[in-house]
Amino acid sequence: MAVRKPGLIALFDVDGTLTAPRKVATPKMLEFLKELRKVVTVGVVGGSDLSKISEQLGKSVINDYDYVFSENGLVAHKGGKLIGTQSLKSFLGEEKLKEFINFTLHYIADLDIPIKRGTFIEFRSGMLNVSPIGRNCSQEERDEFEKYDKVHNIRPKMVSVLREKFAHLNLTFSIGGQISFDVFPQGWDKTYCLRYLEEFQEVHFFGDKTYKGGNDHEIFASERTVGHTVTSPEDTVEQCTALILSNP
Ligand SMILES: [Mg+2]
Repeated sequence: MAVRKPGLIALFDVDGTLTAPRKVATPKMLEFLKELRKVVTVGVVGGSDLSKISEQLGKSVINDYDYVFSENGLVAHKGGKLIGTQSLKSFLGEEKLKEFINFTLHYIADLDIPIKRGTFIEFRSGMLNVSPIGRNCSQEERDEFEKYDKVHNIRPKMVSVLREKFAHLNLTFSIGGQISFDVFPQGWDKTYCLRYLEEFQEVHFFGDKTYKGGNDHEIFASERTVGHTVTSPEDTVEQCTALILSNP
């Protein structure tokens, strides 16, 4: 077996990079990664939780790669073993969380928009998802809210109030989708996983959403990585082959 290149890791985004969006990896891709791992250290970093990543890359994913970072690295596995976990609850603590949630619910209560439904805040392990209309609205109600928001800027206004009020918590606010925005601590994007890779001098990152505002942007642009933008899983194989496999 070839000697693995020391100090170098190939790190891959999952969705859109190793698999088609929201799809399962092809057997060809899995075989490619297995071959690659003979030559370099291989890591994967996805925004989804481990169960979702396992659906896409296989049940034995934590053993198949040297590093597996789910939830952007808030849950970290190395060589099949759990090496770190982080959550919003343990990071902020109950008092600060409660202060934020109470203020946000008051703000929504005072908000005059055409309709409201339920689930205004969804609590996830690494973020809060806040929706002024409520997440359990119908698709039609979603579409209506999106149009209304474009005219009245409900979400941007709310975000600017929260950003100012909670400046001391160093939170990132990300407006995405039709009806909500995400709130999480600064740095809890994919760069979070880099803290586990300090021993590598060269971190080659491959991702599809590397443009500004995309979920691979921060790690792609980080001075700790050499970033590679890919357009599909096939492109990932092609670029990675040219860079690492054809370049002993
Ligand atoms: Mg992606």
